[in-house]
Amino acid sequence: MSAAPKQIPPRAGFEWEKLAFDLYPTSGFAKYVWTAETGEWGPVEWVKEPYLNLHVGNVGLNYGASVFEGLKAFRHADGHIRIFRPKDNAARLNHSADAVSMPALPEELFLEGVHLAVARNGDLVPPHAPNAVNGSLYIRPLMFASGANLILAPPSEFTFIVYVTPTGSLYGAAGTKAPAIDAFVIEKFDRAAPRGNGSAKLAGNYAPTFKHAAAAKKAGYPLTMHLDSATRTYVDEFSTSNFLAIKKQADASQRKTLVVPESESILKSVTTKAIIQIAKDFGWAVERRRVLFQEVKDGLFEEVAACGTAAALTPVRSITYHDSPETTKKVSIGDGENAGPGFLSILTQLTGIQSGVQEDKHDWVWPKAGVDGSV
Ligand SMILES: *Cc1c(COP(=O)(O)O)cnc(C)c1O
Repeated sequence: MSAAPKQIPPRAGFEWEKLAFDLYPTSGFAKYVWTAETGEWGPVEWVKEPYLNLHVGNVGLNYGASVFEGLKAFRHADGHIRIFRPKDNAARLNHSADAVSMPALPEELFLEGVHLAVARNGDLVPPHAPNAVNGSLYIRPLMFASGANLILAPPSEFTFIVYVTPTGSLYGAAGTKAPAIDAFVIEKFDRAAPRGNGSAKLAGNYAPTFKHAAAAKKAGYPLTMHLDSATRTYVDEFSTSNFLAIKKQADASQRKTLVVPESESILKSVTTKAIIQIAKDFGWAVERRRVLFQEVKDGLFEEVAACGTAAALTPVRSITYHDSPETTKKVSIGDGENAGPGFLSILTQLTGIQSGVQEDKHDWVWPKAGVDGSV
């Protein structure tokens, strides 16, 4: 990266204040192909149309060899664009790829593809605002088995692409404010099994939750939650995001304790990693352990939140669960209405670092000098 990267100003006339969590037209996406012939990833190709030409027998569509990532780019006050923790996503992509027998992607290529997709769509990164209240550019790396095979085995070709879209927030959490939302525990279906693939961002882990999430949303619950599928006694995570809690304290002067569920079926969130560090920086205690759902029912947590790149840090004000097949019970969190102060202070620090108004002392934003629009 050159010392003085070329700036890319936000697009004039774009209605940033109307930005939704949606796909917008862009200038194109970055694409790499791996072939068995060479045994490596080829050079980057820039594709302008948002389409791919695929053989009908591609293993990605037929057998589900497809994994994805999600991360965000933000515009800082100096006008430069920086990306939040992309190296963590590069590492997790390879963890997911390994789960479905796809070749590893070198970190340099991941960073190059992400950088190119952002740089060539830099005008779609919203204007700077403290704590990123204008939104961000969502980056979607996707790797799948593009080669054809009828037998159940990895093919001889794989494709890695990076596309982007400007986004507002998924559940309304932005900047320093976040409306608290209601969650529902799914009983009819398990998203991940013990020794299964819950820790991998496999495309196939998500579609099976759609109908349950849609039914819950219709009933007034924007967020769906999963317990461990073996015993149904431990908290795993939400369908889209990790579960975090702050313990109830005897008195307000006590240091806060962040509780983070430990489970082999949870997707290891980069946002959770950042929040654990921020909590430690605040002087809070952090407990990473199995969390009994009974602790939620017993009201041991004063705050609960959903956390992830898309969700940011979304406070949860109630959790409803089936206490019998026909009846449900609702547990109120905090005052049962609004976000609590603990997670709001963490959200403010997180979005502050992402938008460059708080010091980046753990070296999370990349590139340091900013995305280079000359590529
Ligand atoms: C992607 C994802 C998360 C959040 O991970 P981040 O790295 O913070 O974006 C949490 N849970 C699930 C199931 C996910 O797919």
